[in-house]
Amino acid sequence: MTNSPVLVWFRKDLRISDNPALHAAAQMKKPILPVYVLDDENAKDWRLGSASRWWLLRALHALNKKLDGNLLILSGKADDVIPQLVATHNITHVYWNRCYEPWRTARDTKIKSALTQSGATVQTFQASLLWEPWEILKSDQTPYRVFTPFYRKGCLPHSEPRAPLPAPPSLEFFQATQGLSTSQLEKKLLPQPLQPRWDIKMEPYWESGEDGAAKQLEKFLLHGLKNYKDGRNFPNEEYVSRLSPYLQMGEISPHQVWHAAKHAGLELKSERDLDHFHSELGWREFSYYLLYHFPTLPTEPFNARFNDFPWADPDPKILKAWQMGQTGYPIVDAGMRELYETGYMHNRVRMIVGSFLVKHLLIHWHHGENWFWDKLVDADLASNSASWQWVAGCGADAAPYFRIFNPILQGEKFDPNGDYVRRWVPEVAHLSNNVIHKPWESSNPPAAYPAPIVDHDKGRARALNAFQQLKDAA
Ligand SMILES: Cc1cc2nc3c(=O)[nH]c(=O)nc-3n(C[C@H](O)[C@H](O)[C@H](O)COP(=O)(O)OP(=O)(O)OC[C@H]3O[C@@H](n4cnc5c(N)ncnc54)[C@H](O)[C@@H]3O)c2cc1C
Repeated sequence: MTNSPVLVWFRKDLRISDNPALHAAAQMKKPILPVYVLDDENAKDWRLGSASRWWLLRALHALNKKLDGNLLILSGKADDVIPQLVATHNITHVYWNRCYEPWRTARDTKIKSALTQSGATVQTFQASLLWEPWEILKSDQTPYRVFTPFYRKGCLPHSEPRAPLPAPPSLEFFQATQGLSTSQLEKKLLPQPLQPRWDIKMEPYWESGEDGAAKQLEKFLLHGLKNYKDGRNFPNEEYVSRLSPYLQMGEISPHQVWHAAKHAGLELKSERDLDHFHSELGWREFSYYLLYHFPTLPTEPFNARFNDFPWADPDPKILKAWQMGQTGYPIVDAGMRELYETGYMHNRVRMIVGSFLVKHLLIHWHHGENWFWDKLVDADLASNSASWQWVAGCGADAAPYFRIFNPILQGEKFDPNGDYVRRWVPEVAHLSNNVIHKPWESSNPPAAYPAPIVDHDKGRARALNAFQQLKDAA
């Protein structure tokens, strides 16, 4: 028994540095069996979307390389796969880092209990959140519902995020049965048939794995952190970190990002920018916190009044125009095309396109949530559903529904020279700055670009009217 391996189950922590489960396993001085299980069966509706599957494939290759090719990749229900492995190899210790999606916590609790009953020791660790959701409560022991008190009164005074752990200096591996081959894994993760490969366009924009994440962080700290607070609103500027897909897959931990930013921010004497950047990591925590305490967040409006909101029946052509960046509003179309091409969209533009969908088009936020889930490389159940609810006005601490983004003014304010729009919507590139966000006013309107699918004033009035109906019904 003494030579039986420690099973380390990798999930949303595809890295070897600051990985508490791996770190603890390495200290056992036993061979390690590193395992990843693609568990679409338990995930059901929340199985990874296409862009995330593309990202995962690359992240697994990168992790496997770091583990000298010893990562055992399997697919199936983890509640079958993990206990089977434990039984086959007489494993006495099973370690993993905690996840917080409701379907994962239900499954993990079941697995932990089955393994413990069969005599194995299971240890779980905190690795992907800075504060455990159950540790941060109001004085009456109920969860916070508003971000600022959650973060400033709950999290910050609770504890400083712990320092990141180093990668284990050396690892000894256990040779297990054969897992999925590269081609079997590709078959399970990538769109079938393989042609046309929509995902291939994302390739040049991202370097995967822990090393890719570390480079991205370094670039941000050198060029983006100073002036982050103001610069982060401008989609054509380089002030945001683009770390979200790496954080989502766990190729970097929030602890690593928090402390590296702290170090750089203090050196740069940019406390204002540092505080703001840290608070954005705080928004990530808040999203997970909400998902943990209110597990219906992805499907039910947080504010139950919105159950009766008079959403329009979506016209498939209109929805398609939004998805493919053909709405006739350049800032909206630029965002949607950036998403389709790269798997990412800048936060300011996510808010603009989201508002346009739920307000100007009066289309239920679930349609936006689902499209983003499939197309974002950072698709994250907590942040995506919390953010869509925020945009729709029904979420925790949400923007009031009656505050409707004007896509023309938003474009003029946050893309004043039209550089972002010119990059993603070449049809309007020839227009001068004063009409680029409203091409229909140009004396030389682009022939190949659609007229607005909804008039701004009419869309706004319709949304306000729908909101009034909700208020009247209350
Ligand atoms: C409609 C909509 C849907 C969204 N869907 C997702 C999603 O599926 N996955 C996702 O990670 N983020 C989502 N966001 C939040 C936010 O847009 C992204 O986290 C951010 O744009 C990622 O870019 P970045 O890494 O350059 O951010 P930075 O500005 O560099 O921020 C650093 C990190 O803080 C976190 N963060 C920043 N802003 C937010 C926020 N508003 N909410 C939660 N965490 C935040 C992210 O982890 C991010 O990587 C969504 C926002 C909106 C409006």
